[in-house]
Amino acid sequence: MIFRILAGLIGFLFLNIGLGFVAFPDILATAFFVQPAHAQGLNAIRGDFGGLFLGMSFFCFLGAAAGRARWLAVPVPFLLFIIVGRMVSLGRDGFSAAGAQSIMLEVVFVIVLTAAIAVLVRKDKPGQNDFHPGEMINARVLAVVAAVAVILAGLVFSQKQIGLTLARFIATDFMTSNVIDDLPDGLHVALIGSGAPLTDPRRASPCTAIIAGRNLYIVDAGPSSVRKLEVMRFKPEDITALLLTHFHSDHIGDLGELMLKRWAGGAMRRPLDIYGPPGVETVVDGFSLAYSLDTQYRVAHHGPEVAPPAGAGGAAREFLFASGQTEKVIIDADGLTVTAFVVDHRPVDPAVGYRFDYKGRSVVVSGDTVPVEPLSRQARGAEILVMEALQPSMAGVLAEVARKNGRPNNARIFEDILLYHTSPEDAARIAREADARHLLLTHILPPLPVASLKPVFLGDAGKFFSGPITIGEDGMLFSLPAGSDQIQKKWLF
Ligand SMILES: [Zn+2]
Ligand SMILES: [Zn+2]
Repeated sequence: MIFRILAGLIGFLFLNIGLGFVAFPDILATAFFVQPAHAQGLNAIRGDFGGLFLGMSFFCFLGAAAGRARWLAVPVPFLLFIIVGRMVSLGRDGFSAAGAQSIMLEVVFVIVLTAAIAVLVRKDKPGQNDFHPGEMINARVLAVVAAVAVILAGLVFSQKQIGLTLARFIATDFMTSNVIDDLPDGLHVALIGSGAPLTDPRRASPCTAIIAGRNLYIVDAGPSSVRKLEVMRFKPEDITALLLTHFHSDHIGDLGELMLKRWAGGAMRRPLDIYGPPGVETVVDGFSLAYSLDTQYRVAHHGPEVAPPAGAGGAAREFLFASGQTEKVIIDADGLTVTAFVVDHRPVDPAVGYRFDYKGRSVVVSGDTVPVEPLSRQARGAEILVMEALQPSMAGVLAEVARKNGRPNNARIFEDILLYHTSPEDAARIAREADARHLLLTHILPPLPVASLKPVFLGDAGKFFSGPITIGEDGMLFSLPAGSDQIQKKWLF
């Protein structure tokens, strides 16, 4: 009896998950770390995911209610195939704590169902394994069907109340959660945008967050990065300063949005400090001018207390290298030292990278560059080397396809970009020579719309650097707690 009850409880859990997928596909998908793409994605989540769980639930209930082993046997191969899929993922996609926990839970389900099957089989009398349609419609099964109907009807009739409760829950979560509050003292690096100018549905353009203690520094603000920043539960008003590596559009496109959201979100009374090499003033003044009308509207609409005019926009903090100088400390505050260094991204000149040192931990952000001496020097001993990376063989394919399809301009661009970026292989060489601990690739070029392209993108990088190499994705956070030598990785969405 106990096993039948346990099997029924598993059925009840599957029923709730299945109904959840059908009724609230986006919420359940988030809980299962899946992002549905538009109507087709929601269709698959409601249909495929919902159908799988409702089907397993149906047979768990049927087996438990009818006391027949064969019905309980139906969900078992499904669970075993699910476990096999997860094991393949652990091998191919890397370890995930959530994935491992799910496997453990599914193994428990398989054990419980198998035990229930074993007990029930022993009780089966000869001939009892024949199919009896009557057992599918006995009183217990009908009671379960009635309960499911009541749950479904309840969901349908209380959609608005459920929606309002959800809205309150989501708003509270969004307004009260702040990722910085949950981090230990130390140095942390989060990839807000790990893409480049070419559109990649999974990646915003370059933007990297560095958290040192309670201070939040942002390196570059490429298009779409501000939305990702907020989705990752960072608050624009918490930004201590923005550091620009150079002024290509993919690194500055969201500057106006970043300045505006920081100002409007926090009633800021001082403009945002924006560090950069010569040219930073032109960029900051240009965005401030473009947003000046919007600034006026908001002051008029909300009043100067909510939108203090003096805090709008940014304040350019230009730094210069003396003749022959290639490295310079530009920030030394609250235990953090930020060193800017010259890189080579010609004809973009100047272009820089940044090294962050905090309580014995270190992170280096390369900016866009070919391999150069100041980068190698600053990368020395870096615990996380955040390197831009372009895979020449894949860019070559793009150039070839562009030419074949009558797009010589695009082909020329794909050929030219080879000249001022770093390949994953060269990034790996730099990491090895600098004795860096972890190589984190970002500014991923060309885009990797499907995960299967990752080995092609890495090429031979693994031959040159024996430490871990990560192909960066938006949402990744690496933590370097103070007073330890640990590097912890987690996802912020
Ligand atoms: Zn660039
Ligand atoms: Zn770039």
